[in-house]
Amino acid sequence: MTDKARRFPLSLSALADKPFKSSFGTFSSRRTIATPQTATKNSAQDSQRRSNQLTPAAAALKQAPSNLTAGALPDALRRAMVARLVKQGITNRAVLTAMELVPRHLFMEPGFSGQAYVDASIPIGYQQTISQPYIVARMLEILCNGRTLNRVLEIGTGCGYQATVLSQVAKEVFSIERIKPLHELAKSNLRPMRIANIRLHYGDGMLGLPQAAPFDGIILAAAGLEVPRILLEQLSLGGRLVAPVGAQQQQLQLIERISKSEWSSVALEQCHFVPLRPGTA
Ligand code: SAH
Repeated sequence: MTDKARRFPLSLSALADKPFKSSFGTFSSRRTIATPQTATKNSAQDSQRRSNQLTPAAAALKQAPSNLTAGALPDALRRAMVARLVKQGITNRAVLTAMELVPRHLFMEPGFSGQAYVDASIPIGYQQTISQPYIVARMLEILCNGRTLNRVLEIGTGCGYQATVLSQVAKEVFSIERIKPLHELAKSNLRPMRIANIRLHYGDGMLGLPQAAPFDGIILAAAGLEVPRILLEQLSLGGRLVAPVGAQQQQLQLIERISKSEWSSVALEQCHFVPLRPGTA
């Protein structure tokens, strides 16, 4: 990536304008379409393989009290959700397996849990929403880029669902939430799952988490008019940041740190997120 205009500081217009040639390649709009049957088969094979070799976070989820994860209906709905994700173009096996493993219905109020596996964002209170399954899977796929992530930072814990999916594809997950009751909600949602590789923080994620930096992945679950510079500084070399950017019209942005003082950026698809806000509440 040598396009000078794409080096930082990037203006908002530089971030939001037409797509340009990128050297990243692997996350282009290329869509590999598989049938639901293939997806189910693949994910069954994955489950088989992973049950022999579970990550600690996956083992924790599997060992969670059976009333938490069990249930033929949620399991079947989750498998159907994964089949739909494959149709929508998600190809990363680790991400698909994580989406199949994490019980999304347990992160929402009982009144909404019947909709847990439809492809929609759902209210979690305080005018915030849990992101739709497709966008969670898409952002994680872009973030991973085929690798296992070591240390990841999420801005916007919300109810803790995405952090839990992240815990299945990254060794360590740090997640920050600015609304205290949502931070508490995520803590209580996660407690019974006993996942040891997630650290929840209450604070302003726009400041990042310097004490845990650098991160090889940073993901924002809320949209700012631009990506805070301080977050870019907390990326490791070769690290990736995925964020929605914009106000009414938002686009997913992928930013990669290519040297100590250079970052490259590419605009991906349109999206719709709640706003990124400064300070705490
Ligand atoms: N990943 C979440 C999605 C939550 S919605 C989930 O799986 O449920 C986005 C969240 O970002 C909201 O909870 C909102 O309060 C939070 N947020 C917005 N600005 C923030 C900031 N500066 N720091 C931390 N969290 C922020």
